[in-house]
Amino acid sequence: MAPLAAAALALAIGPVEPPLVRATLLAAGVVGSLLVGWIGGRRVLASLRTAFDLLGALREGDYGLRGHVRPGHDPLQGLIAGVNELSDELRRGRRARTEASRFLGKTLVALHSAVLVTDDRGAIRLINPAARRLVGAERRSVVGSDPAEWGFAEALAAPDGSILTHCFPAANGRWAVRRASWYSAGREHSLLMLHDLSAALSEEEHRAWQRLIRVLSHELNNSLTPIGSLAETLSSLLARHGPDIPQHELQAGLEAIARRSGSLARFVGGYGKLARLPPLTIEPFRLDLALGRIARLEQRVRVVHEGDTALWVEGDEDQLGQVFVNLLRNAAESALLTGGGVQLNWYARGGEAWVLITDEGIGLPLTDSLFVPFFTTKPEGSGIGLSLARLIVEAHGGSVGLADRADGTRGAVATVRLRLPD
Ligand code: ADP
Repeated sequence: MAPLAAAALALAIGPVEPPLVRATLLAAGVVGSLLVGWIGGRRVLASLRTAFDLLGALREGDYGLRGHVRPGHDPLQGLIAGVNELSDELRRGRRARTEASRFLGKTLVALHSAVLVTDDRGAIRLINPAARRLVGAERRSVVGSDPAEWGFAEALAAPDGSILTHCFPAANGRWAVRRASWYSAGREHSLLMLHDLSAALSEEEHRAWQRLIRVLSHELNNSLTPIGSLAETLSSLLARHGPDIPQHELQAGLEAIARRSGSLARFVGGYGKLARLPPLTIEPFRLDLALGRIARLEQRVRVVHEGDTALWVEGDEDQLGQVFVNLLRNAAESALLTGGGVQLNWYARGGEAWVLITDEGIGLPLTDSLFVPFFTTKPEGSGIGLSLARLIVEAHGGSVGLADRADGTRGAVATVRLRLPD
């Protein structure tokens, strides 16, 4: 339209004769410009109306409406294309939100832990079926009510991470408390999660008792049966020979009884040790020096030191020393059977002190009971070395593991990890 008007104007003011032609051209130019302007204006209006309708649909939450975009470089067509993209984006966002909230809903229903959400006025906004089971109520009657009415006040006042013993209207037990808060639409919401510990504890207790009874009966049978039969043999010998009973048989029998009762006494002593670990005395000490001293005590096999770093840790030196004595003794006893050696290595990595005791022994027995108290494969073993080691290291917040060597060589590697001081 602009070039047309410019051409008409140029002709009108240019050197065109006669004046009538000039006037006609001028009039034609003006009328043409107006016509083109009118058509353009209608198009602009139509594009603006389309954009306005699309925005109205978005405001109503209808993200399915699309505006037709004509090809070209018209900025208004660009506006319509932009609104189309915006509705696509909003539609995708709404789908993601719906899916997320459906997933959250399903998770809350499937969760065994009780979940309760309260708003900034302290009223219950959300409660999952596990939480409703605690109070034995319908969802309708709980949402919007005061949590104190349902016995949640104490749990809501308990700090995050605490353990609470509490009776709810329909359930009682020990609960692990988790708390979180967040803002939604400018209002603070609080989440309370209660995880029932009683079931887990009693299951674990049950398993511990089973293990203990199995070990106790095994150990008692191992000692008492031969003691009983030896006593019977000796008594029939005595009945047969009277005071002329063969001295060596009497002595051998009595020695066997003494050995067996000794092993029973060791077993009972070990049990006492496990049950009554003295309280920890935590102090900083040089772990590398302590390890060097312990390694020198083991004279039966060659112990190679590989750690050379000075390593300060905080802990009970005596008790941790006991851990390394036990692990080194196991490594040496296994290496003795093959004529191999033992390597002792230590270093700091990822904020932890690592101690590795690697042996060239016979490797681990095929069992998952290595750390079960009183499990032993040795004739004179007590089976408390590893359980005691785990108890002590875990009391220091560390971990202990035992595995077969991964480098293809026969033997085992014990790993102890302890937190390094900050
Ligand atoms: P004990 O040494 O009195 O048997 P532990 O609790 O220290 O008690 O060890 C339990 C069992 O774990 C041992 O009897 C042995 O079978 C196995 N074990 C521990 N350390 C090693 C090792 N380095 N190599 C092979 N077996 C091991």
